[in-house]
Amino acid sequence: MSSNETSEITPKSHVQFNRGYTPVMEVRDLGDGVHVFLGPVNLGAIVVEGKALFVDAGLDDGPARKLYRWAEENHLSPHAAVLTHAHADHFGGAFLWANRGLSLYASPLEGAMMEHPILEPIFLFAGATPPQELRAKFTLAKPCRIQPIEPGPLELGPFTVEVISLPGHAPAQIGVRFNHVLFCADALFPEEVLRKHPIPFCHDFDGALESLKVVEGAENLVPGHGPLLSGDGVRRACNAFRDQLQKIRDIVHRELHLPRTGEELVVRVAEKLGANFFGLADFCLAQTTIHAVLTSLSREGLAQAVVEGNRLLWRRR
Ligand SMILES: [Zn+2]
Repeated sequence: MSSNETSEITPKSHVQFNRGYTPVMEVRDLGDGVHVFLGPVNLGAIVVEGKALFVDAGLDDGPARKLYRWAEENHLSPHAAVLTHAHADHFGGAFLWANRGLSLYASPLEGAMMEHPILEPIFLFAGATPPQELRAKFTLAKPCRIQPIEPGPLELGPFTVEVISLPGHAPAQIGVRFNHVLFCADALFPEEVLRKHPIPFCHDFDGALESLKVVEGAENLVPGHGPLLSGDGVRRACNAFRDQLQKIRDIVHRELHLPRTGEELVVRVAEKLGANFFGLADFCLAQTTIHAVLTSLSREGLAQAVVEGNRLLWRRR
């Protein structure tokens, strides 16, 4: 694709549908049986032989119900769903589909967390039983039964999709490729999203950079949040995301000219990037990213944890 062409996929049809439910979602037909529902979290429906395979379920039963209804209104039979990772905004609505008899598929590790979603706030609160503030629907979804899948070709009834391993943002996140489209979940946050959330959530910093190399090769990309991307737009978005991750790593490394606590580093990075936290969950999410950076620096021999005066400090090696 030439650089003159638009970075957004040109939709075949473009329909707003809301009907009084929130949030508003916009459905786009990308051709070859791929439909995307653009909203706070982008969801997908792959259509083959009158059946629909959903990709991700959204935060709660609202978006999940909409996709199901969309399928019925288009005389499609909902068949199953592939869930990319165990963050509540991506699988929170999946229980509704399970209640309606759909099988749900995810990687074994992410699937284990979907079956036991309390693990998410437990992790965010450093292993302790989480306070009520971390048990809201953004960090604690309803559990659902999962069929484990591995990377590679996946046959589900009439569907053959490719499951792509994209760890980093989450421990065992997967993407789904079908024909010319890759659903990459949160392996890439486009610039529009980074402007609002300059410290993207990250579980494994180095893993995220490796997964970005896979995403970068896609022709057409459906990220978990933000606009659809294609051609040069994919490359530009990947470069911007890589730069943002690198910027965070550089800030942390520079700040280690003096020994710092993890919390001080979160504050320093937030100041430099203009991030604002509005509650416990916001802070804990950013803290995880900073910890992922510290692990990355430690792997390279650039940082180490020391305990001085009973304080856990990070410093350059
Ligand atoms: Zn996520």
